[in-house]
Amino acid sequence: MYVDAHAHLCDGKYQGDIETLVNKYREVGVELVINSGYDLPSSMLVMQNSEKYGDMFFTAGVHPDEAKTLDNRSIDRLIEIVRHKKCVGVGEIGFDFYWNKSTEEEQIFAFEKQMEIADHLNLPFVVHSRDASKKTVDFLKDRKSLIKRGFLMHCYSESAETAKIYQDLGGYFSFGGVITFKNAKKGDVIKSIDKDRILTETDCPYLAPHPFRGTLNDSSKVVYVTKKISEIWDKSEEETAKIIRENTRRLFGV
Ligand SMILES: [Zn+2]
Repeated sequence: MYVDAHAHLCDGKYQGDIETLVNKYREVGVELVINSGYDLPSSMLVMQNSEKYGDMFFTAGVHPDEAKTLDNRSIDRLIEIVRHKKCVGVGEIGFDFYWNKSTEEEQIFAFEKQMEIADHLNLPFVVHSRDASKKTVDFLKDRKSLIKRGFLMHCYSESAETAKIYQDLGGYFSFGGVITFKNAKKGDVIKSIDKDRILTETDCPYLAPHPFRGTLNDSSKVVYVTKKISEIWDKSEEETAKIIRENTRRLFGV
């Protein structure tokens, strides 16, 4: 009944032992995992793994850190991957002005190009935005015509006011382990967003929820995130998981 809408189960930190990870999440009732690519090789890897597991889907895209790697040849290859039947979106894409591993110009080019691919193939896209709140908002506002299938703000960490703007543009929001941390004050933001726009994720191997903070995360731990949202919503875990499952279906079509 649980959903991990943004994971990186192909990350090198797991040393290729994806079978163990799959068994682990199935055991606790996770019924759908969307693995996310962040460059061309990882997009290819999540595609190959989705072919092995019926409950695993993927998004393919080039992360803003890797934006500099996107050229005409890699764009063609990316389009081929995105056309795969288990690809449910383009991502993760966006802006990262914390690490600045690609220039602003490169990030703008990659973000726009990949929004165009999503639009062209009638798919939603997944946004990574770090230290870039205003720029991301303005960028999406200016390209409203490319947002027909909606988008996911993954690991959403901005304000309730900004969420309202994204929501009006067709945005959904996913929350991960951070909302379970002891000092987290995400309750008001989550309450301010319509319930039919909220998804759950782990972003594993990163950001393990409390009480696993600092350890290697995996998709089975999305259960803790769902539980936290159920407390904020004051609903049963089952009811909460059901709403989130339906939201995932509406956005990603699976
Ligand atoms: Zn991610």
